[in-house]
Amino acid sequence: MEKIDTLIIGSGPAGYTAAIYAGRANLKTILYSGLQPGGQLTTTSEVENFPGYPQGVDGNQLMMDLREQAGRFGTEIRDGEIVKADLSSRPFHCVDDRGNEIEARSVIIATGATAKYLGLPDEEKYRGQGVSACATCDGFFYRKKVVAVVGGGDTACEEAMYLSSLAAKVYLIVRKPFLRATEIMKQRVIDKENIEILFEHNTVGLFGENGVEGAHVVKRLGEPDEERYDIAIDGFFLAIGHKPNTELFKEYLDLDAQGFIKTVPGTSKTNVEGVFAAGDVADPNYRQGVVAAGSGAMAAIDADRFLQAN
Ligand code: NDP
Repeated sequence: MEKIDTLIIGSGPAGYTAAIYAGRANLKTILYSGLQPGGQLTTTSEVENFPGYPQGVDGNQLMMDLREQAGRFGTEIRDGEIVKADLSSRPFHCVDDRGNEIEARSVIIATGATAKYLGLPDEEKYRGQGVSACATCDGFFYRKKVVAVVGGGDTACEEAMYLSSLAAKVYLIVRKPFLRATEIMKQRVIDKENIEILFEHNTVGLFGENGVEGAHVVKRLGEPDEERYDIAIDGFFLAIGHKPNTELFKEYLDLDAQGFIKTVPGTSKTNVEGVFAAGDVADPNYRQGVVAAGSGAMAAIDADRFLQAN
């Protein structure tokens, strides 16, 4: 049984920043990187809005830099997963995917969020055969082909822009009559000649013999002038938001209706003393790397203060 001060679960900007602060506060800290070391930013191409990079930075590079910095102050970084976390009493008893047991005096949850799907059976059927929730991971396979992106937010616009530089044509399927993305992203998408925006459209199915060959779409679903037709596509990308990764902790922690961890406003404190949350797992609003990094710093400071007081 390993006994430590702080266990950090997750390796996005929140987890790594918490590790920098916990290490510098001299806390004996272990960080588990989870199944996707570096988190969601590793699936982005260019990050333009992380302060300190005037020319932008590749998402993978940014996360490698953060990891290196996180390791500098004594935090041990492990590429593995925490599979059990008993938050019912202190110290918290946790188990990793190799069966190692850890007793942590405090826990920082920074497990992030995962892409949502529409819930169509065809998404399952064609998963990995034309259906994807990560344009930067899979876009490469669609050079000179036709793809569709579902969603009307910043993620959808970013994915559509990225794919438009590879694919011959991109449909952006938006259920509302407008895009909810920020002005700059909206304008880029509108100005791009090989992106066609299908406003007020829903996807009801996919078809194809060998992978996705098209989508069944409906314009103005449920209205008197509803129109059903098919579009020919080779790839179908989801960009309709994210679900927080809270499965492991939900029996102990207060969550909101969407499953995000509730924290005491202005802090990273959860309803369990000694357990803190940072980054997208506790953030239904901003979903920004820099916000996650800031909240990771808060979580480590909160954990340090808690440990000093107890
Ligand atoms: P959002 O929640 O902003 O947008 C989700 C989009 O998906 C909406 O257009 C929504 O439609 C649509 N949608 C949701 N469910 C369905 C469904 N079942 N069928 C069809 N469409 C659906 O999520 P994002 O991931 O885009 O962004 C989350 C946050 O992160 C935002 O605050 C965004 O600004 C930020 N972000 C910022 C970036 C940046 O600054 N570079 C990059 C990426 C994200 P509807 O509008 O009808 O609800």
